[in-house]
Amino acid sequence: MLAKIIIAIDGHSSCGKGTLAKNLAKELDYTFIDSGAMYRAVTLYLMQNNISLNEVHEDPALLGNIKITFEFDPEREYFETHLNGVNVESEIRGMKVARHVSKVSAIEEVRKFLVAQQQYMGREKGVVMDGRDIGTVVFPDAELKIFMTASPEVRAQRRYEELTKKGVHVNYAEVLHNIKERDYIDSNRAASPLAKAEDAITLDNSSMSKTDQAKLALQWARGVIKSLAHH
Ligand code: C5P
Repeated sequence: MLAKIIIAIDGHSSCGKGTLAKNLAKELDYTFIDSGAMYRAVTLYLMQNNISLNEVHEDPALLGNIKITFEFDPEREYFETHLNGVNVESEIRGMKVARHVSKVSAIEEVRKFLVAQQQYMGREKGVVMDGRDIGTVVFPDAELKIFMTASPEVRAQRRYEELTKKGVHVNYAEVLHNIKERDYIDSNRAASPLAKAEDAITLDNSSMSKTDQAKLALQWARGVIKSLAHH
């Protein structure tokens, strides 16, 4: 039987980590976990309940009221994020949550709360998880680590097109500003900043098609799985 591995995909905002991760999971018949959706769901919960960042610091037990699950939607063939039993998939993708999520993610108590759940989800391997600290903190022993990046302008353009297609009204300048701001906060926070793990492979996809990226990453994954079979 082939060994199951953990694939950690980290990188900047909006550079296609989710698309690549979903693709890999499908090809390998692995579970895809979007760790960013979990930070977004916590952010939404705090906004809905008017809980300030200070209150979370002072009383991290508050987080115990948050239950995040991923439920498969057979129609869309996609796992959707549920917050305390309510489908919040589209709400967590909007700009309102995007504006606050990096600040919420910088809170150490929030990270501890979510990292423990992420590690539990990966306990049996066969998982592709994307985020910012997956290869460095959540799964430092992941068998394959990919660090994705692309220029902020390319990422803003992709994000702008994605939101516009969904009928969300945004302007390009705002999207670009949000991406740069999130890059800055994510890379400079004290708790688990976004960083490339030493043993991660960099994938700069500024001028690569989705298909080419998927092929390349699948090759890497199959290579690792094969090499483990020979041991
Ligand atoms: O990946 P996505 O853009 O949906 O993530 C939203 C935000 O959640 C990021 O900008 C980052 O602040 C935070 N995040 C994080 N650690 C992760 C995943 C996401 O801090 N593993």
